[in-house]
Amino acid sequence: MNELTVNYLCKQYKLNSDVVEYVSRMEELVEERFKNLDEIREYNQYKVIGAMQDNRLGSTDFHWTTGYGYGDIGREKVESIFADIFKAEAALVRPAIASGTHALNLALSGILRPGDQLLYITGAPYDTLQKVIGIKGNAEGSLLDYGVLYNDVPLKNNSIDLEGALDTINEKTRIVAIQRSTGYSDRRAITIDEIEEVIMRIKETHPHVLVMVDNCYGEFLDTREPIEVGADIIAGSLIKNPGGGIALSGGYVAGKEELISMVSNRLTAPGLGKDTGLTFGTSRTTLQGLFLAPHVVSEAVKGALLVAMTYKTLGFKIVPELDDKRSDIIQGVELLTEERVSEFCKGIQAASTVDSYVVPEAWDMPGYADRIIMAAGGFIEGSSIELSADGPMREPYYAYYQGGLTYDHCKLGVMKSLDNLYRKNLVSLR
Ligand SMILES: *Cc1c(COP(=O)(O)O)cnc(C)c1O
Repeated sequence: MNELTVNYLCKQYKLNSDVVEYVSRMEELVEERFKNLDEIREYNQYKVIGAMQDNRLGSTDFHWTTGYGYGDIGREKVESIFADIFKAEAALVRPAIASGTHALNLALSGILRPGDQLLYITGAPYDTLQKVIGIKGNAEGSLLDYGVLYNDVPLKNNSIDLEGALDTINEKTRIVAIQRSTGYSDRRAITIDEIEEVIMRIKETHPHVLVMVDNCYGEFLDTREPIEVGADIIAGSLIKNPGGGIALSGGYVAGKEELISMVSNRLTAPGLGKDTGLTFGTSRTTLQGLFLAPHVVSEAVKGALLVAMTYKTLGFKIVPELDDKRSDIIQGVELLTEERVSEFCKGIQAASTVDSYVVPEAWDMPGYADRIIMAAGGFIEGSSIELSADGPMREPYYAYYQGGLTYDHCKLGVMKSLDNLYRKNLVSLR
């Protein structure tokens, strides 16, 4: 960073110059790791453009209709482009899918029937999915409420316990689910290579089971996506990676034609399937976001690496480690106290473009078991591909950092949050 920038940062953002200098030094240490990310980004960028060209995306696809949406051309192009990028036979991509949880719930409840078993092999799933399944809270209409059976196989040494999984699968098992991302846990994300190995082994001995991957936060971290390595169905959120910070809302489910058909009957109504449902003119923003997504994801992961280097050097435990192959955009930092998590998140909020003047507090968010503090000041509300951080208020007090549409913004977030901790004597720079 040149002097002009350093002076501006200290003046405009009231940063301590020690903090600015420290983060600059961390950046120098981590920069060599960016090259590999650039290669993945470049390949994925060409993949996305290619899918748009192959589908003959045209300016008229951005127009929209009314009513049932039978002739919603934009919708069909969007879904076909998503399917191609994920190497799926079909996809559902809808602004009316409210979130990643909604997309995953659609996939599960569209396929599972009473008496079928859902088996998670990456331990207990993400907080909101526990309510979808019915193992936490007592939400009416959960999978258990509908007579679906559930079990999970804990991770072993932070990896999928393949033997344990193979032993647990039985004749009732219909879906084996893999959560790719860390979620609110202290394990690294599962890589595409690991997913490939696990699916191959499962299909060898249990060809009748379907494999679903919760792809939230994982899109464009690698050159391949889960369906390419054998998954039958995947789901994710458009206000995370594939929305590129531009998609206004929405989620996707992609996979085998026959499965997407079942899921679409759940999305709309049996018999209507995927042929109805307006997209309300969102196809342009959805696709523009998808176009930017490989680049944005790469910037966000560079930010995550800067967080990792900074807090590792400060002496904190980090997940993933610097040398772990990344398979999601999340950087977890074990901050050990509620106060540190809170100050970290407040710093991220203060670095935001929107709502920078707001001070986040931990609260009882619907769908989550513990109080959660969330720093998010994005152009799209709740968007976690934009600079954001959060943490459940439970031991050992992890802060989860993710997103950032530009690397510069990520860096500002790192400086602001560290500055907060430094001023309150919660860290010592070394
Ligand atoms: C974000 C996320 C979800 C879904 O969360 P929403 O907030 O509903 O979009 C599900 N699983 C994982 C691993 C996630 O990170």
